[in-house]
Amino acid sequence: MARAMTAYCDHNAGSPVRPEALEALRRALSLGGNPSSVHRAGRAARALMEDAREHLAGAVNAHPENIAFASGATEALHLAIEAARGEARSFLYSAIEHDAVADHAPRAWPGAQAIPVTGAGIVDLAALERMLADAAKPALVAVMLANNETGIVQPIGEVARRVREAGGLLLVDAAQAFGKIPVDVVALDAAYVVVSSHKIGGPPGAGALILAPGAPFRSAQGGGGQERGRRPGTENVPAIAGFGVAVRAPVVVSEFRDAFERALRARWPAIELVGATAPRLPNTSLFVLPHMKAETAVIAFDLAGVCVSAGAACSSGKVRSSRVLEAMGAPHHWCTNAVRASFGWNSTRADVDALLAALERIMARTPELTP
Ligand code: PLP
Repeated sequence: MARAMTAYCDHNAGSPVRPEALEALRRALSLGGNPSSVHRAGRAARALMEDAREHLAGAVNAHPENIAFASGATEALHLAIEAARGEARSFLYSAIEHDAVADHAPRAWPGAQAIPVTGAGIVDLAALERMLADAAKPALVAVMLANNETGIVQPIGEVARRVREAGGLLLVDAAQAFGKIPVDVVALDAAYVVVSSHKIGGPPGAGALILAPGAPFRSAQGGGGQERGRRPGTENVPAIAGFGVAVRAPVVVSEFRDAFERALRARWPAIELVGATAPRLPNTSLFVLPHMKAETAVIAFDLAGVCVSAGAACSSGKVRSSRVLEAMGAPHHWCTNAVRASFGWNSTRADVDALLAALERIMARTPELTP
C-alpha cells in the first residue's frame, strides 16, 4: 500500500505492522523451529516466545506464567469463557461487547444475558447489580475496557467492585484499549483480561489471555499441552515475537483525533460526535453524517483515498444498524450513518488533512449542511 496515496484512519480495525515488529516477525520466520522441541532450534523459538511473554507481562503488570498466547482476541475471549465454565453458573455480558463475545455468548452459554448500557454508552451499573443479585452464583461477567465503535471507556473499577462483592468472575476485553490507554491487569481486578496484537501494530495472528493468579481454568480443548495446557496447538512464534516487540512501543496520543474533531466542530455543526463528553480512547472519533448512510460514506472516503469504517457492521453489501448505538438508545440515523475514524502509531497531520478534504467533498453534496 502506497502511504502517499492513502490516508489510513482505521487503526481500530487493524493497525499497520510497526517496522520493528515486522523485523522481529521476519527474523523468527527465518529461524523456524517448534518451541516444543528440545533441540537448539526449538529452544531458540521458545526463547523468542518467552521474551515476548516477559515483555507483554511487563506492559500489563502480569506474571508471565499467567499469560496464554492465542491467535487473537476472539480466540482468547472464547478460551476465557470456557475457562470460567467449570466454576461459573451464569454469564452476563454488556450489550456493547464485540461480536467475539456478543455473538458467541448465546451459542456458547444458553441463558447468557446482556447487561444494558446507558444513553452515554456506559454499562448500566444499577442493572448490573440487579442482574448479579438474580443470577445463579458465581456469575461470569464480561465488560470490555473500551468499545471498538465509540471508543467509550467503561468504568471497570465500579464493575469489578460489584462483581467481586457478588463473588463473580470478571472478564475484561482490553483488545481496543491496549496501546491506547494504560492496561494494568492488577488494577482492573479481573479474573481474565484479553489483548490482541494487530490492534497495536503487531502482526495479525497473535493475542493473549491474561489470567489473574488463581483464576479458574477449564480447557475444553485437548491437544498437545502447549501454553500450560491452556491453548493447545503449535504457537505462532513469528506473530508472537512481533507482538512482543510491538508491546514495547509508547501508547497512542490524542493529537490527531483532537485536531480532526476541532476542525469538524468548527466547520460542520450538523455533524454529531458520539460520546464527545464521555471518557473515550484518545484515538477514536465516531461521527454521524446527517445526510448519508455510513456504507455510502465509507465508499466515498475510499474513493478519496481515505480508509475509515462504518460504525454499523456491513455484511454481503447490506449495512446493519449499529448494535452498539442501538443498545445506547441512539436515534435511528445515528445507528445507520455513523462513521469511525481511528488514528494510531503512524498517523500524521496529512492523514487528518486528507480526511477533512474528503469530508468537505461529501458534505458539499448537500450544500445547506455547510454553514
Ligand atoms: N474485541 C474487540 C473490542 C475488538 O475490537 C476486536 C477486533 O475488532 C476483537 C475483540 C477481536 O479481535 P481479533 O481480531 O484479535 O480476534
